[in-house]
Amino acid sequence: MINSYKRAIALIGYPIKHSLSSKIQNYFIKEYGKEAVYLIFEIAEKNLKEAFYSMKSLGFIGLNVTMPYKEKIYNIVDELDETASIVKSVNTVKFFRDGKVSIGYNTDINGVLLSINNKGFDWINKECLVIGAGGAARSAIFAIIKQPVKKLYIYNRTQKKAKKILNMFSNISNSKIEIVRNLNNIGSKIDNIDLIINCTPLGMDISNYKNLSPIPDDWNLKNKYIFDMVYNPVDTKLIKKGMKDGAKIITGIDMLINQAAFSFKIWFNILPNINNIKKII
Ligand code: NAP
Repeated sequence: MINSYKRAIALIGYPIKHSLSSKIQNYFIKEYGKEAVYLIFEIAEKNLKEAFYSMKSLGFIGLNVTMPYKEKIYNIVDELDETASIVKSVNTVKFFRDGKVSIGYNTDINGVLLSINNKGFDWINKECLVIGAGGAARSAIFAIIKQPVKKLYIYNRTQKKAKKILNMFSNISNSKIEIVRNLNNIGSKIDNIDLIINCTPLGMDISNYKNLSPIPDDWNLKNKYIFDMVYNPVDTKLIKKGMKDGAKIITGIDMLINQAAFSFKIWFNILPNINNIKKII
């Protein structure tokens, strides 16, 4: 029940009508008896700054930030935690000192890592491919380059952005990073790739993306780890192909719940148990 003791947490993005985050966070809030409510605000870009400062001054506990505002909020917050400042992407904000200070965090990085580790992926000497170069891709790339992998390939539709990421990360990476110009010409390199992460909206139930896959149809995904960040729908074209070929599957829902748990920890200092919400979602 909403009462005057409850403080708000908002998810901001555009479009976000499909979001499952309120279901997850309100479940955690109830489970841990917090006087809070998690609400969804679909905000047009022209109103973003005004909305952010209003929520800050209205006593909100914090925010989750989703597509396409993670970089914009990175530029608005007063302070950044270390990883958010490296990946230049903020998906979680906490307001401190009665709304005088905002700190930006990135829980996508730990969300990516936990989602992959939970499926038993052994990082040593592995080759990985990240598709995309937006905020989610930067988080995935940062998570990967801190592991003992052999090689990381990055592909993005707009190559300039992939190159920018290479420049951002090459001197803090434990592994070699290579830009792929065209996925159709990757040749036998695909045989050695162990983990593929889709960090684009291809496969999502928006625009005409639902029937699209980020990878060529003729790739054999047998025994590879296939991780699709898209969760609406969960069984994207990529996930269906992975299942058909005999790949190990990591879904956007795994990621959504894991990053949500780390956000909850930032707001309430409790890392929630995710087993029940996984079943519900
Ligand atoms: P973003 O910053 O807007 O980046 C989007 C990326 O997708 C860019 O690299 C863009 O390429 C690429 N892209 C967009 N449309 C494309 C198309 N038609 N063909 C090929 N590439 C295309 O978005 P983001 O925050 O990184 O999010 C990316 C996806 O991950 C979204 O679907 C989001 O919902 C999902 N995500 C899920 C979770 C989760 O918890 N499950 C968490 C984070 C993100 P260009 O550079 O060429 O434009």
